[in-house]
Amino acid sequence: MSTYPRLPVTFVRGEGAWLWDTAGKKYLDAFSGVAVCGLGHAHPAVAEALCNQAQQLIHTSNWYGIARQQELADKLTEISGMDNVFFGNSGAEAVECAIKIARMYGHKKDIAVPTIIVMEGSFHGRTLATLTATGSRKVQAGFEPLVAGFVRVPYGDLAAIEIVAKNNHDVVAVLVEPVQGEGGINIPPEDYLPGLRSICDRHQWLLMLDEIQTGMGRTGRWFAFQHHDLKPDVMSVAKGLANGVPIGACLARGAAASMLQVGNHGSTFGGNPLACAAALATIKTLHEQKLATRAASLGARMLHGFSKKLAGQPNVKEIRGKGLMLGIELTHDCRKLTALALERGLLINVTHEKVIRLLPPLVISDAEADQIVDGVSLLVSEFGAA
Ligand SMILES: *Cc1c(COP(=O)(O)O)cnc(C)c1O
Repeated sequence: MSTYPRLPVTFVRGEGAWLWDTAGKKYLDAFSGVAVCGLGHAHPAVAEALCNQAQQLIHTSNWYGIARQQELADKLTEISGMDNVFFGNSGAEAVECAIKIARMYGHKKDIAVPTIIVMEGSFHGRTLATLTATGSRKVQAGFEPLVAGFVRVPYGDLAAIEIVAKNNHDVVAVLVEPVQGEGGINIPPEDYLPGLRSICDRHQWLLMLDEIQTGMGRTGRWFAFQHHDLKPDVMSVAKGLANGVPIGACLARGAAASMLQVGNHGSTFGGNPLACAAALATIKTLHEQKLATRAASLGARMLHGFSKKLAGQPNVKEIRGKGLMLGIELTHDCRKLTALALERGLLINVTHEKVIRLLPPLVISDAEADQIVDGVSLLVSEFGAA
């Protein structure tokens, strides 16, 4: 089905931050398949783990023990400080699981219509519940009736949440991205997550972080919440978790960790040995190469580069970033820049019509980072002059 406006290119091979198309032309990838291939393309550690696992065992189902799944759950809870995990196959499924935990939590407290606070400008997926949670009319239009049990507030605004707390006694959870990705690389005030944590504690709400885009080292820590001294009750992870092999994980802690019991939730493919082997190899490589720390310094280098190169550009409204999540907001629609960049052998993304979004692999060299900064800056200045 024609669900994507595809660019006129097909890739056949990749290595590190580089991709080759059917004609042999090479491209520098500053998008990583939407923040998925943090280790770059065709990483040998992931390829080897997949080959070995495929020769041993690919799938048995969750009706039996799965050693690789247990190993991955141990690793994920160790690096996040969470208690347990449910495995699915995508980001949307991870958020669906979080929503189900929140509803069960509400019903246990005798709240008949458990309500989740969600944000303007958010993105949580394309299933019916997650598109309802998403703060974009474009994503929702045509799919009404939407799912009940959500209220929306502006992103980054703690006072707006206090007002909901006062007026709505059915709230059971807050669902929020630590940095909004699809919404345009929106970075909330420093005190936002700590403020949310304390509001949730005060009202016994679950703090549910969608770390699908921010997780796996991209912002400079394993997970973006680790920039602060706090933990969520529920967290969704996917995208970069297995460097391109489909997987999603919903992690929970404390009371939230025991909400789903036998019969409450499931997945045929979720947490199968193949996907878990890829995730284990990804985590091991991210750890060994200290790539979260590297993402922080590369991100700072690129932000600095952009602010120098784009200083005084009248068409640039704001440059923002956290680690290797970078956004350059222009004053007008710049969607055509993705095709112009493609012609020059550079893969970028434009989100929210006006924001150039860069999500390069965490393994890029300084020279590759500089090449992205130079290429994008040139495009922006030429675009401005046009
Ligand atoms: C991509 C994304 C999702 C959806 O993930 P899918 O794997 O496409 O279902 C959900 N939340 C956030 C924050 C995302 O970036």
